[in-house]
Amino acid sequence: MKEINFEDTKTAFRIKSDRDLRRAYILFKLISYPILVKIGNPVIKVLSVLRIPIGWIVKPTAFKHFVGGETLEDCQPAVEKIKTANVYSILDYSVEGKESEKAINAALEETLRAVKNAGKNPEIPFAVFKPTAFGKHHALEVLSGEGTSDAETKEEGEKFRNRIDTLCKTAFAYDIPIMIDAEDTYIQHFIDKVVMEMMQLYNKEKCIVFNTYQMYRHDRIAILEADIKKAREEKFFLGAKFVRGAYMERERLRAEKMGYEDPIQPDKESTDKDYNLALKISMDNLDIVSIFNGTHNEYSSKYLADLMIEQGIDPADKRIWFSQLYGMSEHISYNLSDAGFNVAKYVPYGPVHFVLPYLMRRVEENTSVKGQTGRELSLIKKERQRRKHEH
Ligand SMILES: Cc1cc2nc3c(=O)[nH]c(=O)nc-3n(C[C@H](O)[C@H](O)[C@H](O)COP(=O)(O)OP(=O)(O)OC[C@H]3O[C@@H](n4cnc5c(N)ncnc54)[C@H](O)[C@@H]3O)c2cc1C
Repeated sequence: MKEINFEDTKTAFRIKSDRDLRRAYILFKLISYPILVKIGNPVIKVLSVLRIPIGWIVKPTAFKHFVGGETLEDCQPAVEKIKTANVYSILDYSVEGKESEKAINAALEETLRAVKNAGKNPEIPFAVFKPTAFGKHHALEVLSGEGTSDAETKEEGEKFRNRIDTLCKTAFAYDIPIMIDAEDTYIQHFIDKVVMEMMQLYNKEKCIVFNTYQMYRHDRIAILEADIKKAREEKFFLGAKFVRGAYMERERLRAEKMGYEDPIQPDKESTDKDYNLALKISMDNLDIVSIFNGTHNEYSSKYLADLMIEQGIDPADKRIWFSQLYGMSEHISYNLSDAGFNVAKYVPYGPVHFVLPYLMRRVEENTSVKGQTGRELSLIKKERQRRKHEH
């Protein structure tokens, strides 16, 4: 088996042309200036609220780099290109927090189309969705334990449950695994409850439904262990997508403002420790757990690969997947895939103004303050240098 080497930039950028690399370099360079991001993000937000067209700024830059396109069909060229290096795609309709019945139904229609598309397309191994697109925020909050629920809230909860059921039932019928993203802690309890019910319904023979465990929460190891116990007792398979978690700042702020215990780990080390422990616990229960390792962390990626090798698990075993976001950490994705592991890129798509919150998060986590950009930039630089010498 080939050794995993995240330093191998030739493999990492094998599907990128010189022009692609140049564009990526300029983008990461721009967002490495915190001041530009600090000014740019609110300006874009205001323009977007005022419905002033922003496509012309966003589309050729961040959108092109981090998003597959505006429609499912737009994404197909990217899906095919990525697959030439044996990396798969997961198409994520990036609509968040819709409130009106009309918008929710439109999101449901589009997500169902994406589920069926995945079911028919061997280059797409999973379907995925954001649960907040399918339920009213206030109802999810109340049903998660904040406040008292009335008849209307209960009805909203039932509608949410039925929409999630429609999506999971369709995934089951098309034999395509489906992942439910995780969001803010104060709405997650009800989402977890519904997703657990879906696993009990559809994971009897194998893993179709996957829940997401955000390991920056200090209660998640206990929840994972309880879920595994339940799956064992009730004889269903547990689908576990692991991420560290994307909403740390606003979680901490809300907890402080409202005076409840911070749900987030005290520091990065604790998050890392629990993340890797969750991988180990899952590997020890691989007979009933399927693992989706959603991270840009080199250690956690290598750690899972090493556990698989140690336990004699075939790198191509379909119970275990590695995943990075489209446009990020190519050195992890393409080098893991080159060594024979299952890798899929998370490719968001949707109209520009729908994917803005997603784009803002990517840009924010890529500012030099938070650290990702340094690594992305130095890898791109290294590869451009290597190509210069090769020519
Ligand atoms: C395929 C994929 C799917 C994803 N899906 C989701 C999803 O459904 N829900 C979601 O919330 N996010 C999701 N994310 C984003 C993810 O949660 C992280 O924000 C992002 O991947 C960065 O974490 P990392 O593991 O890549 O690596 P790293 O860069 O090693 O870790 C950064 C993360 O560590 C945590 N952290 C940083 N500082 C501290 C601190 N002081 N104390 C405690 N924790 C800290 C935070 O979670 C931060 O995002 C997804 C990411 C990927 C790659």
